[in-house]
Amino acid sequence: MRIPPALIVHGGAGARAPAGERAGRRHGLLSAVRRGAEILVNGGAALDAIIAAVVALEDNPLFNAGFGSCLTLDGRVEMDAAVTATRLEAGEKLPSQSGGVVMVSRVRNPILLARAVMEHTPHLLIGGIGAEQLARQYRIPLVRSEAMIAPRARERWQAMLAKHERKRPIADHGTVGAAALDNHGNLAAGTSTGGVLGKLRGRIGDSAILGAGFYADEHGAASATGQGEGIMQTALCRTAVEALRSDSAQGAAKTLITHLQQTAGSQAGIIIVDRQGGFGFVHNAGAMEIATFTPETGALHRFAPSIDSRH
Ligand code: ASP
Repeated sequence: MRIPPALIVHGGAGARAPAGERAGRRHGLLSAVRRGAEILVNGGAALDAIIAAVVALEDNPLFNAGFGSCLTLDGRVEMDAAVTATRLEAGEKLPSQSGGVVMVSRVRNPILLARAVMEHTPHLLIGGIGAEQLARQYRIPLVRSEAMIAPRARERWQAMLAKHERKRPIADHGTVGAAALDNHGNLAAGTSTGGVLGKLRGRIGDSAILGAGFYADEHGAASATGQGEGIMQTALCRTAVEALRSDSAQGAAKTLITHLQQTAGSQAGIIIVDRQGGFGFVHNAGAMEIATFTPETGALHRFAPSIDSRH
């Protein structure tokens, strides 16, 4: 029996986007979810769908990933991205596969390089120059590092320098992620980010850390966003997917973000899709926008509820 596919994407958790950017962000999330949905409705793989959705968001300068990534304290782009997918072959469960990259500055679409790490190397996570060498080998577009700096990101960095006497990194709303179920029953998740605005050079967040910023097993797939240190401390995505053994996707999302708030005191958000195509999405930050797709509802844009709301 064919399973109805499901796809969910997020555009980061944090302060609400400025009014002038809201329509653009909404449009960006909807077009990203539609790109992935087109693959799923044609019988394509969850992995291909989440990659297509994340690439669309990495290319959109309104989001903190790919072109549009926020800058380090010294004004550079250093991106992290990762992907994971389950493998059900002829009804047999094989272990999920994952790949990620950290501290890349010249890769136009870090999520494509994360996939190359997964598919072509024996490793799970590759950083910096070594990752960029792999990009060349697998013909993944590289650009000059300055070409990754979007004017909007530079302005936000300049405003941060002007405002903060003691410069502290700021979770800059706009990390992107996606999670999907395809009609073969496979699940996949991916996350891509510029990290946090004003971070020290070399800082690595949760987004490419398996179990923290992304995770999938045969029960579900998840992608996280927010203050990476707290997300890593609570192994947010893995713990949430494990909770699906006894809870709904929305129940697991809510429990785990509440736990993160209580134990790490951080702000974050999570999206989950379970193996029946049920969604979970919740945050404890200022706001978190998502878009979902199922064949029944089509593409929808929504604001995720915060853990304090009654949803
Ligand atoms: N989690 C990302 C990081 O800490 C940032 C974010 O999602 O806003 O690098």
